[in-house]
Amino acid sequence: AAKKAHKNTLRFYQAELGRETQHRLTLESDLRQALALGQFALHYQPIIALDSGQVVGLEALIRWDHPERGLVSPEEFIALSEENGLIVPIGEWVLATALEDLATLRRMEGMAGLHMAVNISSRQLLEEDFMGMVERELRASGLPGSALQLELTERLFLEEYIHTRRLLADLASRGVNLVIDDFGTGYSALSYLRRLNVHALKVDREFVRDIDRDEDDALLTRAIVSLAHDLQIQVVAEGVEEKQQLDYLKALGCEMAQGYLLARPMPLADLRVYLESRDDHVQLG
Ligand code: C2E
Ligand code: MG
Ligand code: MG
Ligand code: MG
Repeated sequence: AAKKAHKNTLRFYQAELGRETQHRLTLESDLRQALALGQFALHYQPIIALDSGQVVGLEALIRWDHPERGLVSPEEFIALSEENGLIVPIGEWVLATALEDLATLRRMEGMAGLHMAVNISSRQLLEEDFMGMVERELRASGLPGSALQLELTERLFLEEYIHTRRLLADLASRGVNLVIDDFGTGYSALSYLRRLNVHALKVDREFVRDIDRDEDDALLTRAIVSLAHDLQIQVVAEGVEEKQQLDYLKALGCEMAQGYLLARPMPLADLRVYLESRDDHVQLG
């Protein structure tokens, strides 16, 4: 009987594994077609300067509008697209679209200085032509390099340091600003902060969540802000959902913030309405 039960368990796991593999394969083949079928969209989340309360930039966040599943979050397909290399063409589409939309938005009244932050996977930086691709897309949009910020994660600086160092220096010399995303979530090899021209750090949402309740999170965030400022690097707090968090971050001297409290990521059309209807300066008080 025990043997039989064991067999059944095994069969169950095999079926389960089969289903998972199947799911993954379906997702992968759907993903392969998504670009050609125009199923990707970008949502833009405003980045707010804490002193003035003004919108100073936007972060482009990809969405996959799947015909059966609806909007699929990048958490579900970015890792897969990094593994199979699809992130390269997808990432190029993201950059082209985000810059084109930024050029449109910059023509709105008072929006000429807006920047666009674009998330970049390390897989993209490994491409021989990455710099050429960025150059091409900047030229196509007519925007200066300083309109663009590339968000990279810390991990990159341990794994690919030698290869990427030169590339990042080239980007910086083109005026493109580098931002370290999800700062503090692991890996920290702090020396790169000094050697590279890092413009800003994004304090991860994980620290921000309990910043006004958890002593350790508060302490770490304070340390990150002071380290950044000593190195003349700006700090952006992400995932700000509550007024108390915002007040705390302001008191710490964070320059910028993003989060549902301030504004959610939204499609271009909604963003235009948001920017037009916003009476800047007053809201954050
Ligand atoms: P990220 O770059 O750290 O982006 C911040 C994430 O936090 C976004 O999730 C955003 O929607 C979410 N967020 C913003 N404010 C709040 C808040 O107040 N509360 C909470 N709970 N969440 C908030 P999203 O859009 O699901 O993106 C997840 C991750 O996927 C991004 O993390 C980024 O690593 C990656 N990603 C998104 N778009 C792209 C892309 O175009 N290319 C690449 N390579 N990665 C991307
Ligand atoms: Mg980001
Ligand atoms: Mg982040
Ligand atoms: Mg993240």
